[in-house]
Amino acid sequence: MKLILFGPPGAGKGTQAKKISSHYDIPHLSTGNIFRYNIKNQTELGKKVKSILDAGELVSDETVVALVVDELQHDKYDNGYILDGFPRTIPQAKALDEHLASQDDSIDLFLTLSVPQEELIDRILSREEGRSDDTPEKIKTRLEVYSNETEPVLNYYKKKGIVKEINGMGSIDEIFERIKTELDKIS
Ligand code: AMP
Repeated sequence: MKLILFGPPGAGKGTQAKKISSHYDIPHLSTGNIFRYNIKNQTELGKKVKSILDAGELVSDETVVALVVDELQHDKYDNGYILDGFPRTIPQAKALDEHLASQDDSIDLFLTLSVPQEELIDRILSREEGRSDDTPEKIKTRLEVYSNETEPVLNYYKKKGIVKEINGMGSIDEIFERIKTELDKIS
């Protein structure tokens, strides 16, 4: 099962991806988590992307695509995965497609979590991870970046007919039940 979990910042992608990962026993690949890990450990990649994450902007397509393509080579992804936070631009989506097509592969399902904008801001401000980009000003930038650069990715996958929209309002478990209903149809 190869999935993309999509939605605006604060929609609950990370939380739901973790639940999907443990329930279906498939790895969770979060580009944001990889960047934060590299920043924390002060690697070359971390030094390169720190100011970009702090500003709430996007890391270059070239860097992100190289990172994901490299990561997907590991055996642990052979039986499926959940992509969280990638692809976030049309060029990233196209690069992912090309990479998968070169291996006669493709994404099975694109789940998009829908949550109203006011709720997103409240959720981000109340999360306790202490992320440096979870401040009102950075949230505004991230939501703008989402609507300008990331939202078009939804239409790109709609044209492929693999999109399922999930109501992202309600408790974590209620939302997960909705996701499971869709995943159980294809697994
Ligand atoms: P996330 O944890 O998915 O909210 O990502 C946190 C930050 O990491 C984003 O605001 C971007 O700065 C960066 N990032 C994560 N994934 C991507 C991506 N696919 N393309 C560009 N930047 C990304």
